[in-house]
Amino acid sequence: MSTKDWLEKDYYKVLGVSKNASSDEIKKAFRRIARDNHPDQNPGDKRAETRFKEASEANTILSDAEKRKEYDEARSLFGGGFKFTKPGPGGPTGFEDLFRNAGGGGAPTSGFGDLFGGLFTQSGGSRRATHRGPRRGADIEGDVEITFEQAVEGATVSMRTVSDQACPACRGTGAKAGTLPRVCPRCEGSGMTSTQTGGVFQMSEPCTDCLGRGLIVDTPCPDCGGSGRGRSTKTMQVRIPAGVADGQRIRLKGKGAAGENGGASGDLYVTVKVTPHPLFGRSGYNLTLEVPVTFTEATLGAEITIPTLSGPKVKLRVPAGTPNGRTMRVRGKGARKPDGTVGDLLVTLDVQVPEGLTDEAKAALAEYAEKAHQVNPREALFGG
Ligand SMILES: [Zn+2]
Ligand SMILES: [Zn+2]
Repeated sequence: MSTKDWLEKDYYKVLGVSKNASSDEIKKAFRRIARDNHPDQNPGDKRAETRFKEASEANTILSDAEKRKEYDEARSLFGGGFKFTKPGPGGPTGFEDLFRNAGGGGAPTSGFGDLFGGLFTQSGGSRRATHRGPRRGADIEGDVEITFEQAVEGATVSMRTVSDQACPACRGTGAKAGTLPRVCPRCEGSGMTSTQTGGVFQMSEPCTDCLGRGLIVDTPCPDCGGSGRGRSTKTMQVRIPAGVADGQRIRLKGKGAAGENGGASGDLYVTVKVTPHPLFGRSGYNLTLEVPVTFTEATLGAEITIPTLSGPKVKLRVPAGTPNGRTMRVRGKGARKPDGTVGDLLVTLDVQVPEGLTDEAKAALAEYAEKAHQVNPREALFGG
């Protein structure tokens, strides 16, 4: 199927649904037509077969949200049912096709009203004219996976994005490569034509040859179906700020798809996935670390050496008699905050109970128990 066919077919009409039909309505309409016209049910019936094929084709496009959008866009740019032929004397003209498609069938004036009834705005312009105004580029969504260290320090990572951009084949003109849209001879590119009515009123209306676009594409670009828009994949460098959390969505202003006709670029939204670290955890801008200490270190006190995420090791003073689970703060060894200051490293001590003692060690511990004169730590449980 050529692009030309594609644009000339009114799939909505084929399925008998309105242009803003929901996907459910489209589904139902197609099922009904398919059931009534299925070749198995109507052997030898050419008309049913054609109807079935047409409906299938329409359903393929309209049931796919992306294809439907492309189709709608292409048709809104070029006008539904508008033939890409130069109006010639005697032959089928774009003008006639226009009215035929509008369901007029009768006098051109009635078709005209149907077709353009909704296009006029109060300012006297036409809806199509807005296509030529500045249009903001689309927002792009993407995700990126970074290491725990990159999340803490911030990093510049490369990321692949897929976006709607000007079609590379036709550079956004909508005309097949090697051809260019030509200025509409009827309205000389203004998109509007004036008619003198009885010499008194002058009426301005959207040009019927180019449907107000000012340009005529004779051979639509096969890549984009004449819409001038395409999908492009590119790798871009994305700056991930320090202190980002797993699952966070960052907005990078102006890094989305380019705008059209001088419109602003869209934004890029990046969802960050952070790979967990085997040792360190995060609590806001503080880092967390669990550190084992021996029973004697916790009891007698000790100076222990602990790692930091990216800097040199640091010494930590464990006071005598530190209970299990106590959290100690090492200042300035956490994640960088947006204001430039740095969070802390929160060290939680995990007191290890000695196991597999030698007979000698056991004897020493028994001696310790005896000498320490320990009170029963469970007395309080019995109201003692
Ligand atoms: Zn024109
Ligand atoms: Zn193209």
